[in-house]
Amino acid sequence: MKKFACRDIGMECNFVAQDNDERKLMEKIAKHARDAHGIQKIDSALEAKVRAAIKEA
Ligand SMILES: [Zn+2]
Repeated sequence: MKKFACRDIGMECNFVAQDNDERKLMEKIAKHARDAHGIQKIDSALEAKVRAAIKEA
């Protein structure tokens, strides 16, 4: 299981997402970024940051 916590990229946010599939996990994160943080598009710099914060759990 891959796990991502918004807090791990320095957000004051309790969102945590997990999925077996990294592509699906990125979709969940993208939706959350849009709904909760108003980030319409995850650019390559943010994506790199997110991917670095994804942990195996
Ligand atoms: Zn968040």
